[in-house]
Amino acid sequence: MNDVVVVGGGPAGFTAAIYAARYKLNTLLITQDIGGQIAQSHKICNYPGFSDIDGVSLSNKMLQHVKDLDVPVAFETVNGVEKTENGFIVKTATNSYETKKVIFTGGTEHRHLGIPGEKEFAGKGVSYCATCDAAFFRDKKIAVIGGGDAAVKAALLLADFGEKVYVIYRKDHFFRAEPAWIELVEQNDKIEILFNEEITEIKGESIVTAVHLKNKDEDLAVDGVFVEIGVQPKLEFLDNLALEKNEGYIKVDSHQVTNVPGFFGAGDITNPVLKQIITAASQGAVAAYSAYNELTKER
Ligand SMILES: Cc1cc2nc3c(=O)[nH]c(=O)nc-3n(C[C@H](O)[C@H](O)[C@H](O)COP(=O)(O)OP(=O)(O)OC[C@H]3O[C@@H](n4cnc5c(N)ncnc54)[C@H](O)[C@@H]3O)c2cc1C
Repeated sequence: MNDVVVVGGGPAGFTAAIYAARYKLNTLLITQDIGGQIAQSHKICNYPGFSDIDGVSLSNKMLQHVKDLDVPVAFETVNGVEKTENGFIVKTATNSYETKKVIFTGGTEHRHLGIPGEKEFAGKGVSYCATCDAAFFRDKKIAVIGGGDAAVKAALLLADFGEKVYVIYRKDHFFRAEPAWIELVEQNDKIEILFNEEITEIKGESIVTAVHLKNKDEDLAVDGVFVEIGVQPKLEFLDNLALEKNEGYIKVDSHQVTNVPGFFGAGDITNPVLKQIITAASQGAVAAYSAYNELTKER
């Protein structure tokens, strides 16, 4: 029986595992990847102590920290959590893990455009991860859809590889992006910004060749489309727990406590005001502290 099972290998999960281990809790970390969303970021400049690091390197450092504390890491996907008399059973396709407490840090998944061509050309020019796929678009024409932080950062990275990058955004100014990134985008000769515009179709044959612009009512020739229109939580597989939610995200109090006793939520899955590494890490630490306090009282 574990004291704590932490689900998720992003900053919230890694931090929760580090804190839980240092509270001497018998801890297991289950994650389907290393780093979560930070592994998709080519440049991180705002996490204290790291003024310029790529996301994969930062993820690996966090994972190593967890491993240095002898926390076992299971690379699996959790597909269900069952409440028992003494705690929970956390289930994956091949294993069931018993635990007294669960810290769930599952993060978010990419939103889709839901337009013709998006599904058909996924992996054939349509991508949701500039860090992963930018190098495939060397000297190509690329469209980035969206206007938040992720979109402007993707545009900058893609401009290092592509011949031309169009940022297509339905609003008339960048809405949620950091001013420092916006400035770089505006100064970049390879990047052209199309405000007040949307795409209604992604066209091609075996690979992407164009997107259709709604307001101009014309096709724009591109070889790649990067969809950067935000994220959403994915929690259907926990429906049986009847977790209280807020706009689809797990509702927690300031101790990361949910309405299900013994089940904590941390990181982007709780819809923090600011979805960043530092806030996710902070919530992971608090969740581990809360789990430790509960376990101490129960002993
Ligand atoms: C392109 C991009 C650039 C960014 N740049 C920055 C930046 O420069 N600075 C900054 O502070 N923030 C940045 N962010 C935001 C930051 O990455 C997130 O706020 C942060 O990663 C959230 O951490 P998290 O641990 O809550 O979730 P995530 O990072 O999303 O991690 C969730 C983890 O849970 C795992 N998981 C989910 N479901 C399951 C399951 N069922 N079973 C097992 N494992 C599961 C996932 O695989 C993943 O490992 C960026 C995000 C993106 C997408």
